[in-house]
Amino acid sequence: MTHRFEVLLLLLFGACRPTAAHPPATIPVAPDLETRAQDNDDPIRVAITVDDLPAHGPVPPDVTRLSLHQRMLEAFAVHQAPRVYGFVNAARAADAPDHLAALHAWVDAGHPLGNHTFSHPRMQDLDLSAYLAEIDGNEPLLAELVHDPSVYRKFRYPFLIEGTSEATTLAVREHLRSRGYRVAEVTIDFFDWAFNPPYVRCLSLGDDEAVTRLRGLFLDHALRMLQWSDAAAKQMYGRAIPHVLLLHVGAFGAEMMAPLLTAYERSGVEWITLDEALADPVYLDVPIEPGVTQGTLLDLMIEARGVAHPPRPIQPTAELDAMCRSASSAPRD
Ligand SMILES: [Zn+2]
Repeated sequence: MTHRFEVLLLLLFGACRPTAAHPPATIPVAPDLETRAQDNDDPIRVAITVDDLPAHGPVPPDVTRLSLHQRMLEAFAVHQAPRVYGFVNAARAADAPDHLAALHAWVDAGHPLGNHTFSHPRMQDLDLSAYLAEIDGNEPLLAELVHDPSVYRKFRYPFLIEGTSEATTLAVREHLRSRGYRVAEVTIDFFDWAFNPPYVRCLSLGDDEAVTRLRGLFLDHALRMLQWSDAAAKQMYGRAIPHVLLLHVGAFGAEMMAPLLTAYERSGVEWITLDEALADPVYLDVPIEPGVTQGTLLDLMIEARGVAHPPRPIQPTAELDAMCRSASSAPRD
């Protein structure tokens, strides 16, 4: 019983511990990932994009959504990341008073907003006309916030699902094209979103050791996927390409944004805008799969066209899912 009481106290008060606000100055990263490859001095050009504005994933009870945005925007300013696109689901804007404020903060900081559908549906769950209405229905809020259609008519597919069949993929693409959209394809996706639920669970248990482990895993996997995407693109296209990094506006992502940007810079990354990335012709040739078309541009090149590629890093999904699931992961003292 005593142990269960301790767990209850941790659940009640654990999230107020200072862990979230004060990450350690140095975060362990695998030694082989700390420095860029010696045989290639060219920068890796990367455009940062952030999905699911204004709200993504669970947050600790003492943290506001607005504060997550502010923390990310601060990191972008310090690291001079230019015009970072935030992709909006307008359905979440009225959920809480600070959600709209978060979108205004993004615009006030000089960053553009784009369309991520009104309510973030899975394309499989809607018929085509309803899906197209999700795209159009997201525009009024974007127009109010951004004004210039040529800015907000950038589209990010929810779950990176571009179609449920060849016909729907083509139909959605044609709708977007006719409305003047560019699709913001992705080339670097390290599943940053998957770290938010274990982070909030570990905080609620007061398990500082697990949170430290999460920080290391996050940076380690982010760097491995950067290197994989760069190497895979070079193998596929025979040259370096400008990349598009997919991030989400989650609690752990906000905490890790500054260390992530630092780690990427140390690996040779130079920040560019989404428009600069999309100017590369590789983004005009996006494969379509016979069934569901889903994934990054590089995934689609591999899955739809069977192009050769380096072995993919293993996602730490199982470890993340298992972390801080029970009282046994709470500190013993
Ligand atoms: Zn999304």
